[in-house]
Amino acid sequence: MDEKRDYYEVLGIGKDASIDEIKKAYRNLALQYHPDRNPGNKQAEEKFKEVTEAYEVLSDPEKRKIYDQYGHAGFGPQGFDWTQDFSRVRMDFSDIFGDIFNTFFSDSFGVDWFGERTTKRQWQIRGSDLEYRMYITLKEAATGTEKHINISRYDECPVCKGTGSKPQGIGKKTCPQCQGKGQVVKSNGFFTVATTCPKCKGEGEIIADPCLNCKGIGRIRNMHKILVKIPAGIEHGSSLRLKGQGDAGPYNGPKGDLYITVFIEKDKIFERIHSDIICEVPITVTQAVIGDEIEVPTLTGKVKVKVPPGTQTGTVLRLKNLGMPRVSGYGKGDLLIKIKVVIPERLSRQERQLYQQIKDIENTDNYPEIKKFRNSLS
Ligand SMILES: [Zn+2]
Ligand SMILES: [Zn+2]
Repeated sequence: MDEKRDYYEVLGIGKDASIDEIKKAYRNLALQYHPDRNPGNKQAEEKFKEVTEAYEVLSDPEKRKIYDQYGHAGFGPQGFDWTQDFSRVRMDFSDIFGDIFNTFFSDSFGVDWFGERTTKRQWQIRGSDLEYRMYITLKEAATGTEKHINISRYDECPVCKGTGSKPQGIGKKTCPQCQGKGQVVKSNGFFTVATTCPKCKGEGEIIADPCLNCKGIGRIRNMHKILVKIPAGIEHGSSLRLKGQGDAGPYNGPKGDLYITVFIEKDKIFERIHSDIICEVPITVTQAVIGDEIEVPTLTGKVKVKVPPGTQTGTVLRLKNLGMPRVSGYGKGDLLIKIKVVIPERLSRQERQLYQQIKDIENTDNYPEIKKFRNSLS
């Protein structure tokens, strides 16, 4: 294909088209160009691929956003890889076209676009992806951690090795309902339509002698204890993908993935902003006035920090490299100590006397902020 056409143009819709408009436009075009209705027509097949690709991108809010912002370039030098997601597109047909239109496409469930045409369903169904939500502390996020989780998932049945048939049984037999065609023909007076056989789900064969362990479904549910490694610096709400740790697909279908979504609990004293950590530390009036060395908490222990004389509330002391590890894996953010000068709420007799003495001799000219304020009044 030469120059790629604009996806909105391909579907003949406006840039602000709603998802319903996108679906409707695609449905019409897909019906027009579907290879089943244009056998041997290369041009129609190209068209069909083009509209399907446009639909794939524009019907997905994430991909649409990327496309709107960057155009075709948003999908890399190879452009949009539609073969990767094609199985999903096929499965989406029923969603878009509904039962009536599905009959036009029932065949496409047996079509491998890049190979032979068959009437039987021949691909395998992938197992479901699973999601597990994990909560960790900010300190665990800072250092990285390992946790055991328990999940329940489908595994291949060990007795029948996922086939669903009794090990010594005769295996599969031709489906009696469709005589092995994978489709049944229905007539409602006007139309004669072929639909996927409900008994064998299009496979043309059924299990003759079901495995007793899994009742013929080829998989069983098990509990698993899985060790999850959380990398240091992980962001709140991000997901880790454990490939192949989801449900096993039915009848030896590929395994789904397990997604661990990690949430970081709010910490009592530390606040995270990307790779920096902010901690508010209260100090006394005299510490602020005269200066001091104070001990402050970090994510991994304590360190001493010099508070210079004349430190104001809100002053930030930046401690390099004591923040969160950067997600990129290189270096760390900083720890920002935000000073808060606090006023005593009770005083001993002696303290009161001394404060009184200071008050008597105090020169407000030494307070630039008070001076500035007074000047602006006059
Ligand atoms: Zn079994
Ligand atoms: Zn059948």
